[in-house]
Amino acid sequence: MKLDERVAVVTGASRGIGRATALALAADGATVAVNYRSGKDEALDVVARIEAAGGRAAAFQADVSDYEQATALVADVLEAFGGLHILVNNAGISKDNLIYSMEPQDWLDVMKVNFGGVFNCTKAVLDHLMVTRDGSIVNVSSVMGERGWTGESNYSASKGAVDAFTRSAAIELARFGIRVNAVLPGFAPTDLVAELSAGDVAKHLKRQIPMRDFATVEQVASAIRFLAGPESAYMTGVLLNIDGGGMAGLGLGRLKW
Ligand code: NAP
Repeated sequence: MKLDERVAVVTGASRGIGRATALALAADGATVAVNYRSGKDEALDVVARIEAAGGRAAAFQADVSDYEQATALVADVLEAFGGLHILVNNAGISKDNLIYSMEPQDWLDVMKVNFGGVFNCTKAVLDHLMVTRDGSIVNVSSVMGERGWTGESNYSASKGAVDAFTRSAAIELARFGIRVNAVLPGFAPTDLVAELSAGDVAKHLKRQIPMRDFATVEQVASAIRFLAGPESAYMTGVLLNIDGGGMAGLGLGRLKW
């Protein structure tokens, strides 16, 4: 299989896109470190599913917004599996509000997890990857990093930072054999966007997406797996939209058709 002999760390893999990514990488032969912050049972369920399908995985607790915990995560994975080749920086949160009403702590929390986690884990894997010269990092950003949305200034800014970091890291680390890319999903129904992905709100949002549907977490995971693996060997610094065409248009619908 394409990812045989590869060890992957997926942050925030207990639920949603991270969970689907862990399962997709394992299905291609990777050994997977399933990181979680608080959802131990969910993380163990992901591990059990991978093992039941004949794969190898283990769960690792760490809050990636804390640099010490991110370095401990990487050290634990190296000790458990004896290697590390793929890092998927997926862990993320949102605390939506209007800027006028947003608590400064809500701005900082989102920045610390969504961008801080990417920085912390990327820095943490470098001691190993700069020696092996064989690594692929995939950051899970968002279309919101490239466009504005009312009530998401903190989230959008955190993902814009991830996008800028992805480009700079790709350039800086290419000489060490390390690729850095990002996926930018539109909407994919998960706990994170539960309020937006059901009922009338969902109908309204889908009408604005050229493909008239949300992504599935499996569709996002497929793109992550592609960027993580050998089929994208000559790609780095790429921000890949997975948005049903949402970013291709002006975003202002034409009524006549
Ligand atoms: P989700 O279902 O809410 O899952 C979030 C995951 O992140 C959980 O496994 C959670 O772990 C973990 N997590 C949160 N804070 C963490 C921390 N400090 N340290 C370690 N793990 C942490 O969200 P999702 O929709 O799958 O989102 C995954 C990524 O995709 C995020 O970066 C999000 O911004 C991005 N994204 C999502 C969408 C979408 O429509 N769903 C669109 C664009 C981008 P615990 O439960 O164990 O705490």
